[in-house]
Amino acid sequence: MFENYEKYLIFLNNKLGEFFERQKPYIKCHKGCAKCCKNAEFPYSRTEFKYLLSGFLTLDKEVQDKIENKIKETVNRKKEFKGDKFLYDCPFLIEDVCSVYEYRGIVCRAFGLIESVKNGNSKIPFCAFEGLNYSNVFDVEKKMITDEKFKASGIEQEPVSFNIGYNFLTDEAFENKFNFKFEEKKALIDWFINE
Ligand code: SF4
Ligand code: SF4
Repeated sequence: MFENYEKYLIFLNNKLGEFFERQKPYIKCHKGCAKCCKNAEFPYSRTEFKYLLSGFLTLDKEVQDKIENKIKETVNRKKEFKGDKFLYDCPFLIEDVCSVYEYRGIVCRAFGLIESVKNGNSKIPFCAFEGLNYSNVFDVEKKMITDEKFKASGIEQEPVSFNIGYNFLTDEAFENKFNFKFEEKKALIDWFINE
């Protein structure tokens, strides 16, 4: 059922693996660092969501129960939420570790690098502010990576941005290349509200 999507994931993992390797001196990601799994929206397509659920089904009943409770609690909070942008901790995060790591979505795989955005600009991962990725060349006051910091770091490899935006990584060009559809996209928690 997920054969073609999994082919795309292999392609994506290889690409992202290369990118992370090229930026290795700046990357502080490690198991147990889960700041990027919290306080966010987490866009997921239907295909990513179904794949995530297939991972959920491989988990022990005890872990499934914990996740289900977190989902219920988050759904209830979302239903009562009156603002524009509901941010929440991912319900699949258990004790700061992703319980469905091999089945995680695309946004989860790409996060942590510098993203190329419109007009030649770039988006630095928020965790640079917290002493994590790119913090060794990031000026917290100026909110940017500076030449001064880069020179002082003594690192040879320059910090560079990549075309890793969610819309690009879920573009129909990839659907056509790997012969599958992402289908509808929405915040992860909304899949539990409207399904
Ligand atoms: S991207 Fe940042 S917050 Fe996420 S695991 Fe890596 S270091 Fe931690
Ligand atoms: S699916 Fe896993 S990696 Fe993605 S946000 Fe949830 S806990 Fe984090």
